[in-house]
Amino acid sequence: MGRIYLDYAATTPTHPEVVEAMLPYFSGAFGNPSSLYACGQEARSAVEEARAKVAGFIGAENDEIVFTSGGTEADNFALEGIAYANQDKGNHIITTAIEHHAIGETCNFLKERGFKTTCLPVDKDGLVDPDDVRKAITDKTVLISVMQANNEVGTIEPVALIGRIAREAGVYFHTDAVQAVGHIPVDVSKLGVDLLSVSAHKLYGPKGIGALYIRKGTRIIPFMHGGGQEGGRRASTENVPAIVGLGKAVELAQREMAEEAERLIYLRDKLIGGLLERISDIQLNGHPQERLPNNVNVGVKFVEGEAILLNLDLEGICASTGSACSSESEEPSHVLLALGIPADEARGSLRFTLGKWTTEEEIERVLEVLPRIVAKLRAMSPLLKK
Ligand SMILES: *Cc1c(COP(=O)(O)O)cnc(C)c1O
Repeated sequence: MGRIYLDYAATTPTHPEVVEAMLPYFSGAFGNPSSLYACGQEARSAVEEARAKVAGFIGAENDEIVFTSGGTEADNFALEGIAYANQDKGNHIITTAIEHHAIGETCNFLKERGFKTTCLPVDKDGLVDPDDVRKAITDKTVLISVMQANNEVGTIEPVALIGRIAREAGVYFHTDAVQAVGHIPVDVSKLGVDLLSVSAHKLYGPKGIGALYIRKGTRIIPFMHGGGQEGGRRASTENVPAIVGLGKAVELAQREMAEEAERLIYLRDKLIGGLLERISDIQLNGHPQERLPNNVNVGVKFVEGEAILLNLDLEGICASTGSACSSESEEPSHVLLALGIPADEARGSLRFTLGKWTTEEEIERVLEVLPRIVAKLRAMSPLLKK
């Protein structure tokens, strides 16, 4: 059996149809979309076609979509752009303890520059309480940022409820929807958001491209300064092939998402059920129902997640301990700690994220291999309480 990739939340392979759609824009229609001659205009129309696809997919107007270099830039742009554009109103930002580092570290950056942040807690399943959001709003609050779905434990947040609270209070509302777009329905009106971050490589598009939805009339300053591209909101020559790739990825998601989600939920629940049945002292992390269709995150007691990962890798299985970004650090995941999981148990966490090319056979293989690995590690583990 070949390699089994179960880390789709870290990144996805670029869909072959996406690659194919991108290819003509490298050396053929390679022009600068700002150039007036035909080859530039060909690139321009490809960019605008992709913009319309992204906008249509999330219920936005075309000119409310700004292409960025990825989810991280979209998050940085949203937070810094709103914070610096609305200083006459206030300096307070509300966010949560389980955000991606692209949000968390931007908040830290802003805090060092005189802004105030409130970091809301979550419950044991990873849910933010909308009432906590309401209570945290002051007359100085300029922005609320709550992710739509968590990348580590898969919990889907009550974003639409928070959107209503933000609207009533007249506060801008941003959601990091990087793990949601292409996986669960995302509609900016239903969610009541003013800003929303997208990344292509989490939905079978290429890396290094994303988008920020900015509701018309939102007071925001650019994050990148230079030429007047993207309606003056994001300087730099457009990454035409990547933008085309994002558009194609969105088009494929639109076509396949509903059916694919059903298939993944079946496989997800088979994996969760099987692991809980076959391994003792194991628990599901994240919400049992309000959960991304492709996310499985379990805490395995008395073993190190890293040790399990290395053993899985020897069996050709790619998984993660949580966030790809924190895999280099010794610190247990801030998300698991926020769920109230003790640090030593958080170190035994494992994340499997499923995707388009995941088969039932692969899930069965994990169910066969993992209990063996855990038993072996526990037999030699100093963490094992006998
Ligand atoms: C991957 C991810 C990001 C970062 O997106 P990039 O395109 O890799 O910069 C931001 N937020 C969440 C929730 C993510 O999963």
